[in-house]
Amino acid sequence: AARTGGDEKTAVKNYFNSTGFDRWKRIYGETDDVNKVQLDIRTGHAQTVDKVLNWLKSEGSLEGITVADAGCGTGSLAIPLAMEGAKVSASDISEAMVSEAEARWAEQSGGRGTKPVFEASDLESLTGKYHTVACLDVFIHYPDGKAQEMVKHLASLAEQRLIISFAPKTLAYLVLKRIGELFPGPSKATRAYLHAEDDIEAALREAGWKVTKKEMTATSFYFSRLFEAVPIS
Ligand code: SAM
Repeated sequence: AARTGGDEKTAVKNYFNSTGFDRWKRIYGETDDVNKVQLDIRTGHAQTVDKVLNWLKSEGSLEGITVADAGCGTGSLAIPLAMEGAKVSASDISEAMVSEAEARWAEQSGGRGTKPVFEASDLESLTGKYHTVACLDVFIHYPDGKAQEMVKHLASLAEQRLIISFAPKTLAYLVLKRIGELFPGPSKATRAYLHAEDDIEAALREAGWKVTKKEMTATSFYFSRLFEAVPIS
């Protein structure tokens, strides 16, 4: 059934404060209470995070650089960036996710770096300016037009660098099939949206940004296209 943007967002928020929180905090964790599919997604997602960390570290020290991680989840990217000395603002639409990220910072940081500013906020409400804005695996929850609006809003917050990842439409068949397996039965609370690479690049271009790096991560059940973009001229 067609849902309006507002309802979609409410459904996503509720999911990530309940069933989705339980599911994804395990996938994004280290404990062995995950099934084979979830373990595969954990592995694929860790590869995306590693690629981002390698890109950013190879472009210079992160010490003191401001980073907004929009839709930070349990802090998989925000925590290592903050441990490298970046000044991280980590936000998520789900209060449960942000609390989990904050708890993981306390467990994992071991006194290194600067504690991120953790905040429950949808990315549409974020304001301010950041050297780098990152948004990993969030657009999957939003349809085309909405995702493009999100890209443009994120670009308006970023001064130098934008890092985004999304499930590409080119592998639509496989992804849909496997996401069907991932969210079986009653726990299927949200639907998954794939995005054409051209649509995301077009939104970036309209915002005055160009893609400078691309990566693709694919395991059996995890597909994510990763872009780095910078302002044109
Ligand atoms: N970026 C994290 C990572 O890669 O580890 C989490 C990815 S998880 C698949 C998607 C996250 O996006 C969830 O934590 C969810 O609560 C969050 N989210 C969904 N819609 C959002 C929105 N409109 N604004 C901010 N966060 C949102």
